[in-house]
Amino acid sequence: MAEAALARLRAVLTEVDDLQRAAAVLSWDRQTYMPPAGGAGRGEQLATLQRLAHARFTSPEVGELLEGLRDWAGAQPYDSFEASLVRVTRRDYDLMTKLPGELVAELARAEAAAFDAWHAGRSERAWQPFLAPFAHLVGLCRQAADHIGWQDSPFDALLRSHEPGMTYARLDQLFTRLKEVLVPLTHAVAARADRVSDAVLQQPYDEARQWTLTLQAVAVVGFDATERGRQDRSVHPFTTSFCSEDVRITTRLDPSHLGHGLFASLHEAGHGLYEQGIPAALWRTPLGVGASGGVHESQSRLWENVIGRSRGFWTFFLPRAAALFPDQLGGTDVEAMYRAVNRAGPSFIRVEADEVTYNLHIILRCELEQALLRGDLAPDDVPGAWAEKMRAYLGLTPPDDLVGALQDVHWTGGPTAGFAGYTLGNVMSLQLYERAMADHPGIPDAVQAGNTEELRTWMRDHVHSYGSKLTPEELLQQATGRGLDPEPYLRYIQGKYAEIYDL
Ligand code: ZN
Repeated sequence: MAEAALARLRAVLTEVDDLQRAAAVLSWDRQTYMPPAGGAGRGEQLATLQRLAHARFTSPEVGELLEGLRDWAGAQPYDSFEASLVRVTRRDYDLMTKLPGELVAELARAEAAAFDAWHAGRSERAWQPFLAPFAHLVGLCRQAADHIGWQDSPFDALLRSHEPGMTYARLDQLFTRLKEVLVPLTHAVAARADRVSDAVLQQPYDEARQWTLTLQAVAVVGFDATERGRQDRSVHPFTTSFCSEDVRITTRLDPSHLGHGLFASLHEAGHGLYEQGIPAALWRTPLGVGASGGVHESQSRLWENVIGRSRGFWTFFLPRAAALFPDQLGGTDVEAMYRAVNRAGPSFIRVEADEVTYNLHIILRCELEQALLRGDLAPDDVPGAWAEKMRAYLGLTPPDDLVGALQDVHWTGGPTAGFAGYTLGNVMSLQLYERAMADHPGIPDAVQAGNTEELRTWMRDHVHSYGSKLTPEELLQQATGRGLDPEPYLRYIQGKYAEIYDL
């Protein structure tokens, strides 16, 4: 009886996943090769596929199957395929069926209007044109949170779809601890800005050779860009996957800066390794994705920063880079390159921020979203609140809203609690890495020799292989023996930058 219901549930979920992956192919194409005039037609096709997938997934039949399987699945081992499938599908189903159709449609309309207003605001470098659509979105996000349900803060309701099990109260504790260390560290680094130069990265770098170098870099970390994946170019780098045997990453090259494309490739390769590491048995089900945005980001940050900006990596990689760029890098030694790729200091723009300051940009956004959703901050006071936090955390005052509250496209969707994953990812990357090093102390020596297999295999066994069976907290518990802990990250960042900046 249960077997028949499970088979039926799997059949429906398979169709949903096929529709979503087909939409992902269209979306990937839109961002890579589609001619510009194809946008309108592609938008319609994507909307149709997404509507079909949503209708199929939220149908009463799925609810009845889940209900019928509840007791049976609960009796299976917690991380078994069957128990996990029913539990995780139930979680997604509950979230997706709680929002009334009219609210979802109104959110989509409001987002489209906000997107146009955001561009208008950016061209005037002013918040005012964006204010009314944004205020409307804040109201809709609060309505959505009420439908989903919350106890302490509407932020918690919206956070559930990004970071299962996380709450703002826990984020707030994390942020307090991070700020204790990162704010003084940022000011100390700013006072010694002249200690480190990245001039070596800021030279003309031929794009065709950069392309070759990015492919060498993703091969070093173990992303399969030939048989089971591809790298292409796009305006904003991203990763998408159609199955574990076909994972796509993109990068963006800057002809006058070597770091932008190279680190974008390493970042996306980290996401790509996660997708390539999810077992085929979990594909075409809701378990065949990462555990959360934050856990996904822990993998991209690991390879981009912890490995990609390490001495060991550059000991191996600099001779390869110099072979492609003898004029630019022939006279540079590993130490100079290590310092150049780790130059830090306060800046206005989040996506250009370094390892020391990046989390402060995220904390600022989360704190403002929390205040907006609770009604403690009015939408027209956002620029003032933004500037106040920028001064307190980074010691900078934005000259206008273009480099302030209008810089991220994210808020054209309203305050949706989606930023938190970036900081959770940075913190988790070191918690996982520290544990992998305890299990395999030879990892740094291996990386220095260009061998990343031990580290990659550890991540596959302890993170990738679970898909989304476990919540982020459960995953950290089983991988490291404890829940989310900022101390490994803080030890890393303090040790690394005290040495580089001679603090
Ligand atoms: Zn990422």
